[in-house]
Amino acid sequence: MKAPPFQYHRPQTREELGTLLSSLENAKILAGGQSLMPMMNLRVLAPDHLIDINRIPGLAGIRETPEGIEIGAMTRQADILSSDVVKARLPLLSRALEHVGHIQTRARGTIGGSCCHLDPSAEQPAMCAILDAEFIVTRPDGHRIVPASEWFEGLLQSALGEQEFLEAIRIKPWAKGHGYGFAEYARRHGDFAIAGGAALIEASKDGRITRAALLSFGIEASPRRLSDAEAALIDQPIGKLDLEPAVAAARALDAMEDVHVTPDYRRHLAGVLIRRALNEACTTLERQP
Ligand SMILES: Cc1cc2nc3c(=O)[nH]c(=O)nc-3n(C[C@H](O)[C@H](O)[C@H](O)COP(=O)(O)OP(=O)(O)OC[C@H]3O[C@@H](n4cnc5c(N)ncnc54)[C@H](O)[C@@H]3O)c2cc1C
Repeated sequence: MKAPPFQYHRPQTREELGTLLSSLENAKILAGGQSLMPMMNLRVLAPDHLIDINRIPGLAGIRETPEGIEIGAMTRQADILSSDVVKARLPLLSRALEHVGHIQTRARGTIGGSCCHLDPSAEQPAMCAILDAEFIVTRPDGHRIVPASEWFEGLLQSALGEQEFLEAIRIKPWAKGHGYGFAEYARRHGDFAIAGGAALIEASKDGRITRAALLSFGIEASPRRLSDAEAALIDQPIGKLDLEPAVAAARALDAMEDVHVTPDYRRHLAGVLIRRALNEACTTLERQP
C-alpha cells in the first residue's frame, strides 16, 4: 500500500519552517522518514502536508557545551553511533544504538525523529530518560526546555505542541569512569525490542554506590525509571549488590499485552533484563581506570 496524497514542503530555514508550522493544518515534519513513511504507507497516519526539514542548516551535529553534550535533532543515528565524543562521554547511548534497526535505517533515521515518534520500545528516548536529557524545543516565540521527566506523555505522544519542533537534545554526561549497562530482548537483532533494561552507576573510591539510575523500556507505554530501586542501591558495596529490589520493581510494572507476548512474560523479561543491565554496569565500572 502507498501513502495517501499529501503536499510536500521543503523549507530552507528555521523561519520558513516556523511559517509553515503556524499556517498549515494537519502537517507532519519529515526527518529520516523511517517511522513516518511506514505509518503513512500503512495508512495509520494521513497528513495533508509533509514538511521536510532535511535542508535546514544547523539541525544536525554533536557539540560539547558547558551545559552538556548537545545532539541536534537531525543527527543521524549512524553518526551518533560512530561519534568518539558519544562513545567516551555517553557510552550507554552508544551501547544502546547498536540495537537500533539496521545500517540502512540508521543511515537515515535521526535521534530527534525517534524521540518525537516515541515507540515504547525505542532505545533512544529510553536512553534520554535514564540520562535525564533535556529536550530543546523551538516555538514561534523562542525556545523552551523540556526535562525528560515531562517529555513522555503516553503512547506515541511527546510534550511537543502543534507549532513546535524539536531542535536538539542535551545530555549531561555522568562522571568519568561510571558504570553503564544495557540489555534488551528482541526476536532478531535489529527488530524492535520486546523489552529492555538499562543501568548507570557511580561509586566512591571505597567501592560503594553514590549515584544510580535504572530504567525499563518496552514494558509500559513509555520508558519507566525505577526510582525506589535506584535509592535502594545507594551506599551498597559493588560486588555485593542486592539486585532484588531492582528486579522486583521491574517485575511490578504495568506491562503491555501485544501480539508478541503476554503481560506476564513481559514482566518476567523486565526483571531478567534489569538484572543483566545492572550486572553489566558493575562490570564496566570495575574496568574503568
Ligand atoms: C526496519 C526498521 C527497523 C527499525 N528498528 C528500530 C529499532 O530497533 N529501534 C528503534 O528505536 N527504532 C527502530 N526503527 C525506527 C527508526 O529508529 C526511526 O528512525 C525513528 O523511529 C524515527 O526517526 P526518523 O528520523 O526516521 O523520523 P521520521 O520517521 O521522519 O519522523 C517520526 C516522527 O517524528 C516527527 N519528527 C521528526 N523529527 C522531528 C522534529 N525535529 N521535531 C518535531 N517532530 C519531529 C515526525 O513528524 C514523525 O511524527 C526502525 C525502523 C525501520 C524501518
